Amino acid sequence: MLSGEQIQSIVTSQQCDTYAWYSQRAWVEIDLAALSHNVRQLRQLLSDKTQLMAVVKADAYGHGAVTVAKTVIESGASWLGVATVPEGIQLREAGVTAPILILGATQTREQIHAIAHWKLQPTLCSPKQALVFSNTLEAMNFDVALPVHIKLDTGMSRLGTDWRQAGEFVQLVERLPHLRIASLYSHLATADSPDQTVMNLQHRHFEEAIQQVKILGIEVPCLHFANTAGTLTNPALHYDMVRVGLAVYGYYPAEHLRHRINLKPVMQVKARVTQVKNIAAGTGISYGHRYIAPNNIRLAVVGIGYADGIPRHLSNKMQVLIRGKRIPQIGTITMDQIMLDVSNIPDIQEGEVVTLLGTDQGEQITADDWANELGTIPWEILCSFKHRLPRVALE
Ligand SMILES: *Cc1c(COP(=O)(O)O)cnc(C)c1O
Repeated sequence: MLSGEQIQSIVTSQQCDTYAWYSQRAWVEIDLAALSHNVRQLRQLLSDKTQLMAVVKADAYGHGAVTVAKTVIESGASWLGVATVPEGIQLREAGVTAPILILGATQTREQIHAIAHWKLQPTLCSPKQALVFSNTLEAMNFDVALPVHIKLDTGMSRLGTDWRQAGEFVQLVERLPHLRIASLYSHLATADSPDQTVMNLQHRHFEEAIQQVKILGIEVPCLHFANTAGTLTNPALHYDMVRVGLAVYGYYPAEHLRHRINLKPVMQVKARVTQVKNIAAGTGISYGHRYIAPNNIRLAVVGIGYADGIPRHLSNKMQVLIRGKRIPQIGTITMDQIMLDVSNIPDIQEGEVVTLLGTDQGEQITADDWANELGTIPWEILCSFKHRLPRVALE
């Protein structure tokens, strides 16, 4: 039974929305200074006439879309890129007024209505989709021209119309009522590779498509082509705008592009030690006893697990940072908790902060380290942290 006094102190889930509560168990820290720094670094790479679109899809690669969007716009980005209509609405509801391009495909009546209502800007991937937009806006009695962005497939084989049909496609959209061409764009498939053959071929295709449109006498106000890798690789790919995701968050698409600018990781993942105990040599640890203590060890339990986004495949392979020391994780990673061998820090205290990703007294563990261990890419690691980990923005 709880006493009256204790009941008074019980918080609601809304009251948990404070740093004091965020930092109780496990959380993600977002370094806004690093975010601004990365945007300024990117701006320095671009000419004055090239705009910077910060790609904030997937909740800003797991960093929290609203906070990130507001910070990058203050720091020198002028456009935002999202993948879906709800992602765009979330930003508008939070008061973000910058132009927002939806990079994904949209086609339903509901999506088109929401795009028009919230002043979002769609990608048009095919003539058929352009007709659906025009007809739907007609039926709505839409009275201004909706800015639309024409997507060409120059070799990625994902969204877009084949670059060879660029002229016909642009001409069709140009003639449709209720639509105004805001940009022509395409996406690179291999810009992170040191071998630039495919990238250069895509570049030629994009150039040829631009020529087709020019010959028809159609003026497209904005051309854009480059993701992070393209932006870092070749200024000839910058055109009127670049669409940068990964670098905004402080990561490089490939090792050979690291020297181009100085980026700082924005995200840190932290949790607290919840229990410390001694374990005798030969004792099995965690589910399946996939780790047996080789000698007497000091063990710490930490309140974070795979349901927070720590990949279970890192079991027995990852390290964390405590007091600037690298500490091995041991045993199977469980849903809500992990175990550490803290024999190196015999006086460790319950409640101490553990850094899973981030920097602690000069030691650093990055999403690249996890990605290399898991055979994946830093993009996927950053996107993998769940909403159970609150995002705490640090000025
Ligand atoms: C996600 C995305 C980007 C950003 O890619 P990064 O490699 O993270 O810079 C750019 N353009 C399009 C179309 C995308 O889908």
